[in-house]
Amino acid sequence: MKIKLQRVHYMPKELKPGVLYVSEEFGAAAHLCACGCGSKIRTPLGPTEWNLEETDSGPTLRPSIGNWQQACQSHYWIYRGDILWSDKWTPEQIAAGRRSEEQRRGAYYDALDRRRNGFLQRFWCWVKRQLKR
Ligand SMILES: [Zn+2]
Repeated sequence: MKIKLQRVHYMPKELKPGVLYVSEEFGAAAHLCACGCGSKIRTPLGPTEWNLEETDSGPTLRPSIGNWQQACQSHYWIYRGDILWSDKWTPEQIAAGRRSEEQRRGAYYDALDRRRNGFLQRFWCWVKRQLKR
């Protein structure tokens, strides 16, 4: 089955199989689980979330889609419009997947904090220099 990219403003209530709906405005993508179970899979897009890439043969979504909350527990990649199946999640992988998700987010926000602190430090140095004049 091929996955097509369809850009929308609002997510439609009824999703069609084989379509990856993307709303840039809301930074979100949604599709029906590739196994055919009918579950709606929502994937937020962003620096700490999923990354969408459009290619001539279809959309690529990174990282993989791990539907460990769904009954089917599907795990697959959407790569250039194709579904690449991965192994089912084991409880260890689910735990590791959750951990790495948290780490990715943690690292991102740490970097933001460092940048902010760097700015504050430079600002205080500047204030002190002004006071010494
Ligand atoms: Zn499924």
